[in-house]
Amino acid sequence: MTEQNLFEMVKKHLCSCATDLVMDRNVEAVLKMPRREIHASIPVRMDDGKIRAFQGFRVQYNDALGPTKGGIRFHPEETIDTIRGLASLMTWKCSLHRLPLGGAKGGVVCNPKELSVHELERLSRAYVQVMFPYLGPDRDIPAPDVYTNPTVMAWMMDEYSKIAGKTTFGSFTGKPIGLGGSEGRLDATARGGWYVVREAARDIGMSISGAGVAVQGFGNVGSHAALIGQEVFGARVVAVSDSHGGIYNPEGFPVRELVAHKTATGSLQHFPGATHITNEELIELPVDILVPAALEDVIGSRNAPQVRAGIVAEFANGPVDNDADEILFERGIAVLPDFLTNGGGVIVSYFEMVQNFNMDQWDEAKVHRKLEKKMTDAYREVHDLAVQNNVPLRKAAYSIAVARVVEAMRMRGWV
Ligand code: NAD
Repeated sequence: MTEQNLFEMVKKHLCSCATDLVMDRNVEAVLKMPRREIHASIPVRMDDGKIRAFQGFRVQYNDALGPTKGGIRFHPEETIDTIRGLASLMTWKCSLHRLPLGGAKGGVVCNPKELSVHELERLSRAYVQVMFPYLGPDRDIPAPDVYTNPTVMAWMMDEYSKIAGKTTFGSFTGKPIGLGGSEGRLDATARGGWYVVREAARDIGMSISGAGVAVQGFGNVGSHAALIGQEVFGARVVAVSDSHGGIYNPEGFPVRELVAHKTATGSLQHFPGATHITNEELIELPVDILVPAALEDVIGSRNAPQVRAGIVAEFANGPVDNDADEILFERGIAVLPDFLTNGGGVIVSYFEMVQNFNMDQWDEAKVHRKLEKKMTDAYREVHDLAVQNNVPLRKAAYSIAVARVVEAMRMRGWV
């Protein structure tokens, strides 16, 4: 899926903080390998009666801090190395945000746009049938990610419950509210990201109100990033995009109308007053805040010199590669690292697990309040270390997150 392999990128970051943490080479070697990975062939009966085998993965990267947690992606170009990289990132994300969870990720190589709803349901259930022995509230708890959603989580939780012989809401998160889902989960990643952007903007003296924002991706994270940016923080959303390309209007878009347009037509194109741009052009627009919220590896050495934003907020996982990171740091552009900035999704997923275990249901205001505190606390900790050591935020974030995992491994006697 990536030009620069995401797993290699994450390992490189690990190595760079290993020296600072005076980490034993053997400990470093442990951290650079997933603890367990499951490769599966998933047979599904298609609507035409034929059987098709899909390739599926689940990588449980490190569970020193608790049961593993991470999304499941359905994507035609999924690779095991992308899943490994994302599972590793989940480990550092849960650690950085002080969640009692390890990191995992799953994926199926498929194009959900070419599947009927019945085929999608059979595939979702078949994934759980194959992975069942390795999943569960005290083992590994999946959630939605690219091209999976609350409906898919409901099917998966139901299949898990059928096999287990008991309703087990805590086996999956990101479920619909009526099935043990949490208020505030749907937009949690985007909302959490904006809390981090708000803090970072304050630190560099940028006002978010009226700031020009470009958002790449208009799925769960991207569409909510645009909506919350405009409606909660008063930003001017001047560009958005999806897999078909982008649209631009320097005056700003009415985002709620854009969402309705995309829902009605399936595309962002032909919105009144919009100029068509490519996804590559969006990255180089003259904006204050650039929000990559689609896929990984969209800013590399090829285009980092052309980025004109003051803040690049990684709402997606791995959108900025290692070379681009250095270029942007040298150019004084603040890159808000993914596993800090997009931690809101797993934080509210964790809140969902807590509610499920306690058979409780919190209101939205409580979820938002607790999410805001977690995001701002983590940002402050990362920012303070970055300033103290004069290093990029990403490096500071890795140092904090990795140190906690290593300490847990030491206390458990693993290393
Ligand atoms: P999604 O499936 O809801 O949306 C993906 C979006 O990306 C869609 O709008 C799609 O059109 C667009 N897209 C696909 N290919 C593209 C391309 N080549 N160029 C531009 N846009 C393209 O997925 P999502 O849940 O919004 O996830 C987006 C990113 O956020 C991913 O990196 C994911 O790992 C990360 N993330 C998601 C969550 C979550 O809670 N959903 C949490 C943390 C991180």
